[in-house]
Amino acid sequence: MYVCGLTVYDVPHVGHGRAALAFDVLRRYLEFSGVRVEHVSNVTDIDDKIINRAAAEGRSEPEVAGEYEKVWWHAVDALGVLRPTEVPHATAYVEKMVALVSELVRRGAAYETDEGVYLSVDKVDGYGLLAHQSLDSLRAGARVEVGEQKRSPLDFALWKKAKPGEPIWDSPWGPGRPGWHTECVVMSLELLGDGFDLHGGGIDLAFPHHENERAQALCWGRDFAHHWMHHGMVTVGAEKMSKSLGNFTTLTELLEQTDGRAYRLLVLRAHYRSPIEVTPATLADAVEGLARLDALARRFSLDPSLAEVSALGAHDAGVDAEALERFVERMDDDLDTPGAVAAIFELVRRANAAADAGEDDEGRRLAVSVAVLAGALGLRLVAGTEVDDHSAELVRRRDEARAARDWGEADDIRRQLEAGGWVVEDTAAGTKLHRHPG
Ligand SMILES: [Zn+2]
Repeated sequence: MYVCGLTVYDVPHVGHGRAALAFDVLRRYLEFSGVRVEHVSNVTDIDDKIINRAAAEGRSEPEVAGEYEKVWWHAVDALGVLRPTEVPHATAYVEKMVALVSELVRRGAAYETDEGVYLSVDKVDGYGLLAHQSLDSLRAGARVEVGEQKRSPLDFALWKKAKPGEPIWDSPWGPGRPGWHTECVVMSLELLGDGFDLHGGGIDLAFPHHENERAQALCWGRDFAHHWMHHGMVTVGAEKMSKSLGNFTTLTELLEQTDGRAYRLLVLRAHYRSPIEVTPATLADAVEGLARLDALARRFSLDPSLAEVSALGAHDAGVDAEALERFVERMDDDLDTPGAVAAIFELVRRANAAADAGEDDEGRRLAVSVAVLAGALGLRLVAGTEVDDHSAELVRRRDEARAARDWGEADDIRRQLEAGGWVVEDTAAGTKLHRHPG
């Protein structure tokens, strides 16, 4: 699968975290089911936004892109998201993009203007397929910017001729740089080959980005992606959470305050195509759910390696056959993660009830099922009560704040610890942490 990655010009927002989680869940479930997954996801390391930031801060583009790419992988790791099997960078493929653009010009599908090279969408069979709109209705909504020399308002830039001060590459049309839509079509076909299985990204990429990738592949005579998967957006109120709206809490901030597994659970509780709302309330709800899962792991001293068990090994690991069947049925229905998560929490309830009634073997069988099925979604249960480094640091800062009688700061840190699933107790010896009882 090829998943459109990040343009690295700023710290990631929570929507980027959802994107990474959506495809991580798909990949993990496929691998759980016995499918080998090649997961290619690009990094856009040259783009208007990177150029603008570099210019504003008096730095080079590679410096800006390198800094924010590092921040991104740090967040990916904190979310427990598997890194892609391959991460192509746009700047490493410019020569191949130039070759594609030349080929599209040769085939009569693209034309040169004073500003660059454009693809003529009139040449594309079924343009608008991913937007579920006809060429005529798309054209009615499009407009040409003043000074643009496009033949049709929907035509898009494959190559942009250099403006002063911008990074440039050589091309048959003089110095310039590739358009954004060209990198993914080149890198996906190069690394995965013709007719690869799945292409994904956020629903905001379906049109025009993915449509324009498809258009180039068609005009190139290549067999492009056989399936498309688009996930919903993250909203705050009714608005899409995007950097351009400036209303985001960054993913980095969220992960400083909350266990990345809680955000995964929040994401899993919505269908991947639905929008989700990230608010203190929805997050607190997820933290509580996670605490219930971890409490179960403690009650039965579950082995963390249960998270690695695949469907093939589920029977031998002691997973309840009926529970596995229900889980697979939900997930095979277009990744119904809300249904799968509900089934897992029903097992949690039954495991605890069985143990309460003294039926320890039955309780353990159901608890093992929980650990394996949650693991298939990338959710690892933590049985340990030992305080992790991050929480220990918060405890140290809270004790400092209390010693300085900075009650506001102490309360703030208490809330952060509680968000991480801890019960916070004030003792004569300072802050003590416990886990919620089952
Ligand atoms: Zn892309």
